[in-house]
Amino acid sequence: MSAAHESDVLAAVPTGLLIGGQWRAASTGATIDVHDPSTGEVIAQVADASPEDGLAALDAAAAAQASWAATAPRERGEILRRAFEIVTARAEEFALVMTLEMGKPLAESRAEVAYGAEFLRWFSEEAPRISGRYATAPDGRNRLLVTKRPVGPSLLITPWNFPLAMATRKIAPALAAGCTSVLKPAALTPLSALLFAEVLREAGVPDGVVNVIPTSRAGAVTGPLIADPRLRKLSFTGSTEVGRSLIADAAHQVLRVSMELGGNAPFLVFDDADLDAAVEGALLAKLRNGGEACVAANRFLVHESVAAEFSARLIERMARYVNGRGTEPDTTLGPLVDGATRDKVAELVAGAVADGARVALGGRIPSGRGYFYPATVLVDVPHDARILREEIFGPVAPITTFRDEDEAVRLANDSEYGLVCFAYTRDLNRALRLSERLETGMFGINTGLVSNPAAPFGGVKQSGLGREGGLEGIDEYLETTYIGIADPSA
Ligand code: NAP
Repeated sequence: MSAAHESDVLAAVPTGLLIGGQWRAASTGATIDVHDPSTGEVIAQVADASPEDGLAALDAAAAAQASWAATAPRERGEILRRAFEIVTARAEEFALVMTLEMGKPLAESRAEVAYGAEFLRWFSEEAPRISGRYATAPDGRNRLLVTKRPVGPSLLITPWNFPLAMATRKIAPALAAGCTSVLKPAALTPLSALLFAEVLREAGVPDGVVNVIPTSRAGAVTGPLIADPRLRKLSFTGSTEVGRSLIADAAHQVLRVSMELGGNAPFLVFDDADLDAAVEGALLAKLRNGGEACVAANRFLVHESVAAEFSARLIERMARYVNGRGTEPDTTLGPLVDGATRDKVAELVAGAVADGARVALGGRIPSGRGYFYPATVLVDVPHDARILREEIFGPVAPITTFRDEDEAVRLANDSEYGLVCFAYTRDLNRALRLSERLETGMFGINTGLVSNPAAPFGGVKQSGLGREGGLEGIDEYLETTYIGIADPSA
C-alpha cells in the first residue's frame, strides 16, 4: 500500500459538516485532527461542529421530516439499496479509510464494510414491510386500527470502534422508517462516517434527511438538541457511563431512547466442549477488532478439568498474532485506538497481576511509536479481580475456572452488564438451560461471533435498552397509533 495511494483515498473523503445537503466549514472555523493510531500522525482535519452547527443540523432534519415521512416506503428502500450497492462497490476505499483512522487490519475493515453495508440491504427490504393491523374488539362491535408512523427527527451518536457499521446500523432503520437524522460520529474516527454521508447523497437521500456533525465537544453540541422539542429520538452506542447520563438528559423531554452500551461477555468452556472449536471461537470473540468491541469475550470461564489444556492451546494460537500497521499484509493485530485506551489496558493487566494473576503471554507494551499492545493471556485470575468486572477493550484474555454448571452461571451473571455470553458445550440440554439462565441479550452457542444484521442486537441490565438490526430494529424508529372505530354494522 503506497503512501501516495493512501493520500489519494484520504483526499476523496469530505471534511466538512453535512447540514441540509451542503458541505460546510464549522461556524467557528475550528477543525479536529484525525490521527493514524499506528503512528500517532495527523492524517486529516475535519470541521469541528459548534453548538450552533448542531442546531442548524436539527433545523435541517426537522424541515425535511414531513416530506421524507411521506416518501413512498419502496422509494426509501430503493435509496437504501443503492447505498448498499455503492458502499459494496467502494469497499476497498472504505476499508482503507477505516484502517487509517481506527487501526484495525485491512481484512477486518473489509469485514466491517460488508457487515455495515448489510444493514443497508436488510433495512431496504424492511421499509416496504412496515404494517399495522385491523381487528374486531373482543365484544364483537368496535373495530381497532393500529398503524405505524416514523418517530421523527433522531439524534444518532456512534463510537469509534466500528466507525461505519455503527452508523449504518442506526441510519438504515431510521431512513427505512421515514425518520430524518443528525449523526454525531466519534471524534477519533469521523472519516468513515463522512465518506458514508457522501454515498448517501449519491444514492439519492434528499437534502436535510441525514446530517453529519463531527465535533470535539460532544456534550456541548448534543445537549441543546436533546433539550429541543423537535428532536423525537436519541439512539446512542458507547459507554455505559455516557449512556446513563444521556438517559437522564433525555428524561426531560421523555425522549425515545435506544442505548447500546458496554459489555463484559463471559466465554464459557465446559468439560464436554470441542476444544479445537472453542479455541477458534475464543480467537474470534477475543481478538476481532483487537478486543475493542462491546461483544468481545472479556472473561474466559473454563471448567477446571479442561482449563490447562484450553489455556495452552489458546496461548499457542494467540502467540502467532502479529502487531503492526493495519495496512501491512502480515499484520493480524492493529494498534489500539489511542494512548488512553492502551493505558487503561496496561493498568488492568497490572492490576490483575497485583490481584494474583500470572501473565502467560504478552503483557508488555512494545517500544516504538503507535499505540500497540500485544496479544496477552492471563491465567489463574482470581474471581474477584477487577479485570473480570470492567471492559478491557484490548487483546487480553483473562482465564479463570469453575467447578460446575451452577457456579459457571453464577459467575457469568455476576456483572452489571448483560450484552452477550458465549458457551462451548456438546450437550444440547445444557446449552438450552444456559440460554434460559444467563442474564444476557445475546447468546452464542458454540460460536464466537453472534453479530448479524438479520438478528436483534442489544443487551439487558446496564448493557442497554432497545435492539438494532433484525425485525426489531426498525421498531425503534416507529410510533404506534391506535384508532378506535365504532361498530360499522350498528
Ligand atoms: P463513549 O466515550 O461513550 O463515546 C461514544 C460516543 O458518545 C462518541 O461519539 C462520543 O463522542 C460521544 N459522547 C461522549 N460523551 C458524550 C456526552 N457527554 N454527550 C453526548 N455524546 C457523548 O464510548 P467510546 O469509548 O467511544 O466507545 C466504547 C464504548 O462503546 C464501550 O463501552 C463499548 O462497549 C461501547 N459499544 C457498545 C456497543 C453496543 O452495541 N452495545 C457497540 C460498540 C461499542 P467523542 O468521540 O467526542 O468522545
